[in-house]
Amino acid sequence: MRDLLERIDGWRDEQIEFLARLVNHDSGTDDVMDVNGVGAILAERLERLGFGVRRVPSERFGDHLVGDKPGTGPKRFLFVGHYDTVFPSGTAKQRPFRIDAEGRAWGPGVYDMKGGLAALLYALRAHAEAKSRTWVETNVSVVFNADEERLSPTSRPVIEAEAKRAHSVGILEPARPGGEYVMARKGAGTFYLEVKGKASHAGLQPELGASAITDLAHKVAALHALTDFARGTTVNIGTVRGGERPNVVADRAFAEIDLRAWSTAEADTAIAAMQKICERTDVPGTSARFWGQVSFPPWPPGLPGTERLVEIMRAVGGELGVDVRAIATGGGSDGNHTSAIAPTLDGMGPKGSRAHSEEEFVEIATLLERTKMLALFLDRWAREFDQNSRR
Ligand SMILES: [Zn+2]
Repeated sequence: MRDLLERIDGWRDEQIEFLARLVNHDSGTDDVMDVNGVGAILAERLERLGFGVRRVPSERFGDHLVGDKPGTGPKRFLFVGHYDTVFPSGTAKQRPFRIDAEGRAWGPGVYDMKGGLAALLYALRAHAEAKSRTWVETNVSVVFNADEERLSPTSRPVIEAEAKRAHSVGILEPARPGGEYVMARKGAGTFYLEVKGKASHAGLQPELGASAITDLAHKVAALHALTDFARGTTVNIGTVRGGERPNVVADRAFAEIDLRAWSTAEADTAIAAMQKICERTDVPGTSARFWGQVSFPPWPPGLPGTERLVEIMRAVGGELGVDVRAIATGGGSDGNHTSAIAPTLDGMGPKGSRAHSEEEFVEIATLLERTKMLALFLDRWAREFDQNSRR
């Protein structure tokens, strides 16, 4: 164990430079060339560690990377991390990686989640170079996907297939702002509402029109009212569009809706209520269409498999003097998919805050800390986790 920690300490500056390199290469989900550029850096690292790397192409996004490092024993651990960000090409030029006087590192995707990728690669490197017993015996799989910030439409089957082969899964999403690991996540879905009305001159013959915007406005208010903070079910109308000019009765309006819920039953109830609201006609002469789906199924709190992984991480925290806490969160991740298949622990990346914003940062000291936690976690998991008990 000391051997692993000393190695990781020795790579401190190099690891920060590696993180800087990842951050300074943009990889916005829709910029396929950029994404594949970062993918090449990651694939090369994995290969150097002894992984066989397979690139899984997708039609709209960059390649997903699937790495496999065989071991002599029966147990297999899967790590999942996405390397796309929400920031378009050119962002890293405008605000490249930097560390301020308070020890915060800034830059696009530094927290969500290039920090987690850098932590994992150095944790694995410590095992590989130490030729630890864990490394020799444990089968380690890795999926680095390129479309998570679009809710993993093309990587989901890849991740699920790897999760089926694995006895446990670690998700490299960042720690919550208080440093907490993540042991449950709300289900999340995106829904769409389109209203068609009838255009007419707003001054000459307004009575001949049917305003799609007015109809949509009624529905938006009713949909928002479905939010129930106590139950944790939220309906957010995130965008609305409609109409052409002020002097025309709008014949089209459109809204995008985000739904979150702790359970499938709760999500189904909310979807039925949304459907009902969207089916009624608030403005005569209009018609509405409602569609969408839950793309991240709920990962409910209290799964025994997840609890066992939290316990292992807690023991690791005890060794390193780190207080380990795990919480539930409303944000979705690929852990929503894997937790239905194999015991999953999420939030394994460094601590920071303000994901998806210009103020995104990580506390750079926690890059080192989380790297050590990952290395020791894998070690302890290999020794202690009973692979015959699944979820
Ligand atoms: Zn993320």
